[in-house]
Amino acid sequence: MRLLMVAYPGAGKGTQAEMLAAHYRIAHLSSGALLRAEVNSGTRIGKLAADYLRRGDLVPDELVFEMMRIRVLEAARHGGYVLDGFPRTIHQAEAAYSVAQEIEDVELQAVVYLKVGQNELRQRLRARAGHEGRTDDDDIAIAHRFEVFETETEPLLAFYAGRGILLEINGEQPVGDVFGDIISAVDSLHISG
Ligand code: AMP
Repeated sequence: MRLLMVAYPGAGKGTQAEMLAAHYRIAHLSSGALLRAEVNSGTRIGKLAADYLRRGDLVPDELVFEMMRIRVLEAARHGGYVLDGFPRTIHQAEAAYSVAQEIEDVELQAVVYLKVGQNELRQRLRARAGHEGRTDDDDIAIAHRFEVFETETEPLLAFYAGRGILLEINGEQPVGDVFGDIISAVDSLHISG
């Protein structure tokens, strides 16, 4: 099973990705969480990525690909993955697609778009800022991340809809109901492997 979660910041993609990974026994690969870990460990990638993360800007593609490539290929060889936050632009999606074309059983099978309204998102992000302490959850960075999503990530939805693998899910329900809807939608695709 090879899935991608796409959603505005605060829509719950991390939570749902974690639940999906446990349910389907696949790897959860969160580009944002991996980047934050690189920053906290002070690695070369972390040092180069830190300012982008703080501002809520996208980290340059080369760094993200360097960090994700092997992990995605490994996960694909061991039952699959749920990608959380990568690919995040059309350019990343096309580059990932061309890598996947050369290798069997690596390409995405379904893309889950969690739909949540902007007011609800802002409320959730303010609450998260209180307990997770992410440096990019302050009001300015949040506003910027919304803009980045709209201009850079939203075009991905049409891209994957065109490939016939986009699933739109109402993310404003309680966590368990969102999860139930995702599972039903994914299972209805009858993906094997
Ligand atoms: P997230 O945890 O998905 O909200 O991501 C947090 C931050 O990590 C983003 O605001 C970006 O700075 C960076 N990031 C995560 N995934 C990517 C990606 N695929 N490409 C570029 N930057 C990314």
